[in-house]
This record gives sequence, C-alpha cells and structure tokens, in this order.
Amino acid sequence: MITALMPTYARADLAFDHGEGAWLWSEDGRRFLDFGAGIATSSVGHGNPHLVGAIAAQAAKVMHVSNLYRVSGAEKLAARLVANSFADSVFFCNSGAEANEGLTKMIRRAMNRTGRPEATRIICFEGAFHGRTLAMLSATGNPKYLDGFGPPVEGFDHVPLNNLNAVRDAITPQTAGILVEPLQGEGGIRLADPEFLRGLRAACDEYGILLGMDEVQTGFGRSGKLFMHQVAGVTPDVMSVAKGIGGGFPMGAVLATEAVARHLTAGSHGTTFGGSPLACAAGNAVLDIILAPGFLDEVNDTAARLWAGLQELVAFYPDIFAEARGQGLLVGLKCLVPNADMQAASVAEGLLTVAAGDNVLRLAPPLIVRAAEVDVALEMLAHAATRIRAHLAAAAQ
Ligand SMILES: *Cc1c(COP(=O)(O)O)cnc(C)c1O
Repeated sequence: MITALMPTYARADLAFDHGEGAWLWSEDGRRFLDFGAGIATSSVGHGNPHLVGAIAAQAAKVMHVSNLYRVSGAEKLAARLVANSFADSVFFCNSGAEANEGLTKMIRRAMNRTGRPEATRIICFEGAFHGRTLAMLSATGNPKYLDGFGPPVEGFDHVPLNNLNAVRDAITPQTAGILVEPLQGEGGIRLADPEFLRGLRAACDEYGILLGMDEVQTGFGRSGKLFMHQVAGVTPDVMSVAKGIGGGFPMGAVLATEAVARHLTAGSHGTTFGGSPLACAAGNAVLDIILAPGFLDEVNDTAARLWAGLQELVAFYPDIFAEARGQGLLVGLKCLVPNADMQAASVAEGLLTVAAGDNVLRLAPPLIVRAAEVDVALEMLAHAATRIRAHLAAAAQ
C-alpha cells in the first residue's frame, strides 16, 4: 500500500527532532554533524536565535497580507539586496524553481518589449539543475526527470558547460538569453570556469541577449562572496536565488537590472505568498547575519580549512576519492566508490552529507560552522573512508 506521504523520495531512515548550530539530533537521540544543511539551505545554522526570534516576532504580529498591500519588510529586504548586488529591482517568490520561472519570463518579456518578439529561447547547459516545474524540467534537460511527464516545454537549448564555441554556435535570432549556474550543484559540484563566464557575458553583449544566473544554491554567502558571480567578476542581467536566502524558511527571489525589470509592469507576474511579512522577516534576519562585518571572511577561513583537509583526505585515500572540488562552503568529493556507499558510511560516523551527480559526495555545512567542527567532519570522513577500504579488502579476499 502506498505511504500517506507520497513516495517521491528514497528517504534515509532518519528523522530529526531538533538542531543547534551545525548539529542535528534524531528522534531516537543520536547527534549528527550536518554538512548537508538541508541541501545548502540552513545557511545560518539550526535554531539560530536571531533568525528564530525574527520569525517568532513577525508571526505574532502578522504573517501574511498578500501583495495587494505594501509590505515594509519586503521593501526593506529588496532595498538591501539592491544595495549589495548588481540588481536594481527584486521580485520575491517561494522556491528556486519559481525563481527560475520568473527569471525566464523576465528574459522573454524584455526581448519581447524591445523589438525582438521572436527571441524566446534560452541556452542552458548539460548537467544543469533548475527545478521541477514543467518549464524548469525542460531547462534542466535531464531525461530522467522528464520521463513520463509529456512533451517538454519548448524553448530551451542545451550545450556542454565550459565550451564557449558551442554556446556561440547555438545562438540564433530566436535566442533570448543564457541561463547558467556559476557552479553546478546537483550536477556534481562542477565549476563554470571564470573565463567561460566572462565569455558568456561578452557573447550576450555582442548578440544583444540577456545573461541569467541561477544562484539558487551558490548565493547568499555559500561561495565566500554574497553571490558567486562576484568571485568571477561577471555581472548577470538577471539572477535567481532561493535555498540559503531564508535560512530554512521557504523563499526565493529574482534580482534584475532596471533594463530587464522595467518590463514587468503591474499585473504581468505575481504570487500569493511571495514576499510575505513572515518570509521577509526571515530574509532580513539572514541578511543581518551574512552582511555583518567579518562574517564572509570567516566563511572563507573555514572553507580554506575544509579545503586543506579535503586535499589531505584525497591524498590519503586515492582508492576512495578522485578529487575535491568546489567553491567556498559548497564542495564535492568525487568518489571512486559509489557515492551512496560513502554517504552511508559517513552517516554511520555521525556526519550528514548530500549526494550529487557525477558520483560526488557534496559537503555544504551551515555557513556558521566552526573550525573545530570542520576538523570533526574531516575525521568522520576519514573514518568512513577507512571503513569502506576495509569492506573492499574483505570483499577482495
Ligand atoms: C535547488 C535548486 C533549484 C530548485 O530549487 P527548489 O527550491 O527546489 O525549487 C534550482 N536551481 C538550483 C541551482 C538549485 O540548486
């Protein structure tokens, strides 16, 4: 018989009761170090007093009023995001997929309203992940996710990542823009070369099309900068964010330049829940923490420590790991054994991670993770690798 909770996930047999900082306690009383952060989402840790306090206080005042009225928390959060990014205007929504839908609509609308109505197609990349709505399944392009869901939504073309010639060859008069993750998260922590991103910007400028960045996973400090495109020094025209923005409160946003955003006139796009007083209280609280002086410096220090430890780990277990890769606190261990085995062995040591494509074990701790906790995680990974090595040796006999 089917479970009451629809079985769309192969869930680990673990249920959590509460958390504090980078730690989670299961209902059966075990403690885990959380290097998954609910898929790079619990950015400021579990039970963060500032975030919890802001949500509780706002919930007691008013949670939701709809976008028929002004929402001062949303005005404030938008102004802060504008002040700290390339963007001139922000649209709030509820998830990464919804943010990418909005981004795609904005790209199409901007072309339509500037005399290029035929330009509706978006160039995307092999290995991308943009979400699970019907259009974003097409943008993602992974046949496994499209299977059985009818004709894919038209308008998305795919080319290999980091191949500028392929991108330029794919640009036609029907092309409206490009959508790229500066680092593919679900696809296996695959980095878009900074040089490649600069080439995309140049191609967009040359052909008069728009550059969209999906920073749903890389945004909000995870890369060591507020947004990862700042690492490469490449500015998009429009950007989607979600995951870390609310520290675990469901929220997304589209950030755009005025040239793009000015075509989204009243009534052209909308959401019932997006940008609610409650969501924006969470967003503002998260931003208070991430923008506090020195916070991102600490993220970079912690990331450097993790990176150095992972290099040692890879060197010590060349039979288990091929390489460590990533940016900031979004890193991947490319495994030579099934990543699911490595993940299970890590859980047995008390460490939570997230699998990613290309047989990668993804590490994405809360940004507030401390150096001592990084050391503990590295030790747990080493123990897990030793455990797997012992299994392999036993199986070989
Ligand atoms: C998670 C993710 C999405 C989808 O976000 P949802 O909130 O699950 O809809 C889109 N793009 C990227 C890069 C992601 O990591």
